[in-house]
Amino acid sequence: MRIKGLLRAFRQIRQELQRGIAAADRPQFGARVRSLVGTVEQLCAAHGTTPDRLPGPSRKVYLFLKELDLDRLPVRPQGEPAPSSPRTLALRNMVALRDALADRFWRDVESLAASPEARRALQGYIQTQVAAIESVCTDSGANPEALTGSSREVYGWLRFLADEENLALHVAALERSRAALAPRRALAPLAASVTVHLVPVKLLCRRRRYRNEVLLTVSEGFLHANAGVWEALIDFALQHRDPAGSARLRQFADSDEFAETLLEMEPQAHSAASAGRGCVHDLEASFARVNASHFNGDLPKPRLVWNGALTGRKFGHYRRTTDTVMISVSLDAPAVPEFVVDYVMYHELLHKKHRIQMVNGRRSIHTPSFRAEERRFARWAEAEALLQALAQKHSA
Ligand SMILES: [Zn+2]
Repeated sequence: MRIKGLLRAFRQIRQELQRGIAAADRPQFGARVRSLVGTVEQLCAAHGTTPDRLPGPSRKVYLFLKELDLDRLPVRPQGEPAPSSPRTLALRNMVALRDALADRFWRDVESLAASPEARRALQGYIQTQVAAIESVCTDSGANPEALTGSSREVYGWLRFLADEENLALHVAALERSRAALAPRRALAPLAASVTVHLVPVKLLCRRRRYRNEVLLTVSEGFLHANAGVWEALIDFALQHRDPAGSARLRQFADSDEFAETLLEMEPQAHSAASAGRGCVHDLEASFARVNASHFNGDLPKPRLVWNGALTGRKFGHYRRTTDTVMISVSLDAPAVPEFVVDYVMYHELLHKKHRIQMVNGRRSIHTPSFRAEERRFARWAEAEALLQALAQKHSA
């Protein structure tokens, strides 16, 4: 069961909380939150289920709203203007744009791999699309962060690919998919007519067959998948049933790599002046504490934002391309102590400090030396235990 509009209502409530609620608006705000919680419970009851059996995102939103302390709402500082009501926006033709671009990647993968000029030309085209979308948003008085549904996904993907390094990674992934496909051509005639789309979609992978053509749609989360995982994806496209291959796919979809890639594409706020101010915790203050205690105050301050895409077991992300630390809003709660937020901040700042290393031809995000440095956090064990308990609560 899905509850329509719940995520959108949640984003608006988050935005209002970040700006603070004026005293006069508190009763009305509280009533809205309570009514939303009540609606979810009623809908669940009507379907013979309970909120803790809702799909992940809806359940997390429900928990957040339910646990919100309405007597201790953040207050909007006096003299700060009332926020204009946040607008949401869905754009047309975004899915068509995504598919046309995915086709172009597939068709031109060899020349894109061989020629930096070809990659630059495509990068320029993507940058133009990003600028066009942003100007449509500006004209409508909306922020790209307020895009909804597939508009939001495709915009985040385009911004991701507008980066030179990410575009090269995308091309390299498609090359691995071609390499996995090549030896199967002798065995399955259909292999010659497989098209692979590596795109932002919620599902892991999907196969569609039109007459003698197969379209394999793969989540961009597989960007860093190795040859073995690509072989399993190609087998799926060719309908070779292989339990070991399916297990490999599920395992990769559960990996940090997969989650990190999807987080890289999450659209983030442009107007960032108050983006670090949460309902309970303040990321600016957290950064200042951690920088002083663990980096001698030497680390240049990255952008700090609360991440609206609630995640069950990932509480932070460092985005190198925009030098941004994102912290999950599920930590912005009275039940989460300050040192836990500082610990996640510390982890992400270690990513800023270290470059990603290659170990045996694989990207290694959390090397043993990274883990050792992570343990230098004074209350490491305590923080880890609290985060695990929180992850369990959100994913149980
Ligand atoms: Zn990490």
